[in-house]
Amino acid sequence: MVEIITPPQPAPLRLRIWGDLVLRKKAKPVAAITAEIRQLAAEMVETMYTHHGVGLAAPQIGRSLRLIIIDTRIGRDLLPPDPSPGDILLAPRMPLPLVNPEVIRASKALETCSEGCLSVTKVYADVTRPAAVVLRATTLEGETFEVECDGLLGRCVQHEIDHLDGILFPDRLSREELRKVETELAGLEKTVKRRRPRPT
Ligand code: ZN
Repeated sequence: MVEIITPPQPAPLRLRIWGDLVLRKKAKPVAAITAEIRQLAAEMVETMYTHHGVGLAAPQIGRSLRLIIIDTRIGRDLLPPDPSPGDILLAPRMPLPLVNPEVIRASKALETCSEGCLSVTKVYADVTRPAAVVLRATTLEGETFEVECDGLLGRCVQHEIDHLDGILFPDRLSREELRKVETELAGLEKTVKRRRPRPT
């Protein structure tokens, strides 16, 4: 008799918030694309959509692994008006889980844009980053690709890969921008510390 194992329905996971130490760890590479990794990716997609994000990295749900999800499609139009090669290649596959993603080249040209993060609740600030990057990553089907990304996709990819290195967007703010959000960040940190179990 063949036993049919149905994977559990993906359910959203608890988000880790600014001040949680798992967000500061350097995440480990994914060694193999297993059923467990696929299930985790499905749960991360659910979590990202529940919180209306355009990207999510595994440390944000407490797993220190180099796995991210991206969905930068806006509304019903799949592509932005001036799509990069990355938009053309990746948008049709979104929501897209990416394994061991890395930025292998970055443009000298910089761009400043408002950013937020599901782990830095309700804080938004202007972050300066390279305007375009070349992303190398592997899909859950085991296909490794390299593609140039700019605009929202390029920014999202850089933001999510930062998470894998323990970097959060407030770390990249100018002193002036950081000053504007300092009080909110301290508030988030206090909430997380209060939630941490006390040693018995
Ligand atoms: Zn984030």
